[in-house]
Amino acid sequence: MSRLLLLSGGLDSTAIAAMTRPDQCLTIDYGQVAAQAEARAAKQVATLLGIHWSMITVPAREVGAGLMTGTATDPQGPPDAAPEWWPFRNQLLITLAAAWGVTRGITVVEVGTVASDGARHLDGTSLFLEAIDHVVASQEGHIRVRAPAAKLGAVELLTTSPVTEDVLAWTHSCHRANLPCGACPGCTKRRETLAAVGLLQ
Ligand SMILES: [Zn+2]
Repeated sequence: MSRLLLLSGGLDSTAIAAMTRPDQCLTIDYGQVAAQAEARAAKQVATLLGIHWSMITVPAREVGAGLMTGTATDPQGPPDAAPEWWPFRNQLLITLAAAWGVTRGITVVEVGTVASDGARHLDGTSLFLEAIDHVVASQEGHIRVRAPAAKLGAVELLTTSPVTEDVLAWTHSCHRANLPCGACPGCTKRRETLAAVGLLQ
């Protein structure tokens, strides 16, 4: 079994990397505005954890929407979409990770979904995770898709994972910029999570 973790360089995927110790980590620049900061964070996190890190660039901003495209402050999609909603984002990223991994001996793709993600995005629900696992596993390579923290809240994940503060310090969570804006859902969740575990006042 060879496990590949999709590492965005945020709190959740970093905590998962320290917890599950995947064989490799992959960061994808898919055209999100914070791609540069995410890649910088992910590379540093993987290096500190001693996990092999790769990055691929597949520009897809033309099919994106919302905060992560850098062109809008409001959702451009369905009325129930969150500000950071990007159409079919997890499906896109999992597909790219599986496509990259299938020729490199990867048998499991791990994603950084946590329990609260399902309340903001349908591609963070258990229904989606089960479906995408079936879709990917039904094709050549029979790669499985796993979400090791799907039943954990973000706070629970941070307290469960052996990840240390010096590794967390390198993470990047902002959806809107390469320097944290302090106000987007990514920055807000980061502040609330770190405060809840006592790392921020
Ligand atoms: Zn932000």
